[in-house]
Amino acid sequence: MTFWKEIKNLKMVIMGFEKEYEKICPYCKKNFTATHLSQVYCPEKCKSRMFRKRMQEKRKLANKESDVFQKNNALLKSLIDKGTSKITKKELIKLGFNEDYYLKKIMYNNNLLTLLEDYYLEALSDVELLIHKN
Ligand SMILES: [Zn+2]
Repeated sequence: MTFWKEIKNLKMVIMGFEKEYEKICPYCKKNFTATHLSQVYCPEKCKSRMFRKRMQEKRKLANKESDVFQKNNALLKSLIDKGTSKITKKELIKLGFNEDYYLKKIMYNNNLLTLLEDYYLEALSDVELLIHKN
């Protein structure tokens, strides 16, 4: 009898744990009971769907990044071609330059250099930039 009582207690303990496994699937937003604590997605195909979705988002982001890089490069090229190498940051942004996309920012001779693919920008002051070709 004590054995069965223990089993019953054990079952209740397990059921108690199961309550902690009540989760919400981050993909389909449905409630589900996980069979183990590390289970994140419901037993549907949400895990692979989420993986696919993340991959698509990554690819989209990579495309967007290369678009912005190309636009930034093309803009700097057109300015250099026109003979403009000194420009204010404000003007450059007004022309469509996206300052969030660059390869690297480094300090050189106390000046901040923003490296892009074919060009780099030298900050002459807080507002003025000098465009250099690599
Ligand atoms: Zn799901």
